[in-house]
Amino acid sequence: MSGLVERLRGVVAGPVLVPGDDDFAGELAGFNLAVTHSPDVAVGITSEADAVAVVQAAAETGTPVRVLATGHGIPEPITGGILVTTSRMPGVTVDPDAKVAHINAGCVWAEVVSAAGEHGLAPITGASDAVGCIGYTLGGGVGPLSRTYGFSSDWARGFRVVTGTGEAVTANATENPELFWALRGGKGGLGIVTSMDFALVELTTLYGGSVFFEAEHIAPVLSAWGEWTSTLPETANSSAVILRLPPLEFIPEPLRGKTVLNVRFAFVGDVAEGKQLFQPIRDAGTVLIDAVGEMPATDIALIHNDPKAPTPAWDRGVLLTSLDADFIKAFVDAAGPDQQLPLVAVELRHLGGATQRDVPEGSAVGGRGGAATLMLIGVPDPSLFEQVLPATADGVLAKVAPWISPEMTVNFAGAFAVPGSYQASWPAETFTRLAAVRAAHDPEKLFPYGPG
Ligand SMILES: Cc1cc2nc3c(=O)[nH]c(=O)nc-3n(C[C@H](O)[C@H](O)[C@H](O)COP(=O)(O)OP(=O)(O)OC[C@H]3O[C@@H](n4cnc5c(N)ncnc54)[C@H](O)[C@@H]3O)c2cc1C
Repeated sequence: MSGLVERLRGVVAGPVLVPGDDDFAGELAGFNLAVTHSPDVAVGITSEADAVAVVQAAAETGTPVRVLATGHGIPEPITGGILVTTSRMPGVTVDPDAKVAHINAGCVWAEVVSAAGEHGLAPITGASDAVGCIGYTLGGGVGPLSRTYGFSSDWARGFRVVTGTGEAVTANATENPELFWALRGGKGGLGIVTSMDFALVELTTLYGGSVFFEAEHIAPVLSAWGEWTSTLPETANSSAVILRLPPLEFIPEPLRGKTVLNVRFAFVGDVAEGKQLFQPIRDAGTVLIDAVGEMPATDIALIHNDPKAPTPAWDRGVLLTSLDADFIKAFVDAAGPDQQLPLVAVELRHLGGATQRDVPEGSAVGGRGGAATLMLIGVPDPSLFEQVLPATADGVLAKVAPWISPEMTVNFAGAFAVPGSYQASWPAETFTRLAAVRAAHDPEKLFPYGPG
């Protein structure tokens, strides 16, 4: 290993760190404080040339290479090999005429939202703007506007990627189209992506935000919500989450220490129409806080208000086949306010609409057949992560088992410790095709993927 480290130090401009170096732990820290990575060497790449140098050095020694951006998405600790970090490659440039953002490997969505917003444009992002653009898009990406605009990966127009052969290549609709197909939803094992071209939409305002209801309104509002979602046009997006909030000071007073329902809404179009569409939810129960209104599209992350500060994180997700009345009843029985559950959030996101339509040239993204996502997020106490939270999730999911789809979408798979959850993120034929793309571009299997 010392030969590899010396070699890397000679060819990479960024830092090459090993256990014992002062900055080693800091280099590997990410969003999930419960995960501690222990690679043999961490390399902070600063350019495509650095990425090429890392892969070529790795190939000579057969050393596995993995990539870490923000750490929002790596559920298991990475052990051994080279861990490439991308935080020294931030930055985005927007071409307002082409309506395309050129996004570097270390960029998070907040940067793109802000840069695009200056031109009246918006990227199709996820709920949190602190998530890394590349890792998110490689997994497809379901966000607050997905019913209207589809998976985020549908908006990727091309990637620069250093593959397992040590080459830096372009993958787009005309160059390396099979690799492009795989990068739009195939997630891991496809190389180090150094940048991505991402199409933007013309969007300056939304009618959106969220409303909160007290515990006693959860069952009737969710029942109304389930029925209401089936009436919505594709321009309307919604999710509903049962929150069990701790009695801590940073939680606003009306919500502190309570179990509440938060219904989110994002409508693309006329404000009056959005208001009218959302009215049945306002009428479904006594609203505790109403924060739905006309909003700048650049405030999209406020719809979900996901935590940004690093935290111990445990989650598990599934895809659902329906939000019908029987499902909602089973869901409230399983996860409603009468249950004492160590879950801070149990979230349903309504899908359908544009998420069901693949891009004309096809893409690897899994989960297009889903009606909704269901995500369980545990209380941030690592002592519960091994047994208590998995058992809790098993219990909740067993009660809604008839509505769980055999399909999945990988960004929502959560803990891969669940056998088969990674593979289930793609239809079998897609998984096989992905394996063929990986074999073609990474014949020495330098880029591990999936669990482990
Ligand atoms: C608070 C929170 C909110 C979220 N909200 C959403 C949401 O609304 N919708 C959604 O779809 N998902 C969501 N996710 C999941 C998230 O999109 C994925 O976990 C995603 O992988 C995070 O990417 P990252 O680069 O930030 O994270 P990392 O953990 O750093 O990376 C995750 C994986 O992405 C790959 N990767 C990252 N960068 C590169 C690169 N340059 N080259 C090659 N591979 C790379 C690697 O395989 C890596 O293991 C959320 C996660 C959290 C914790």
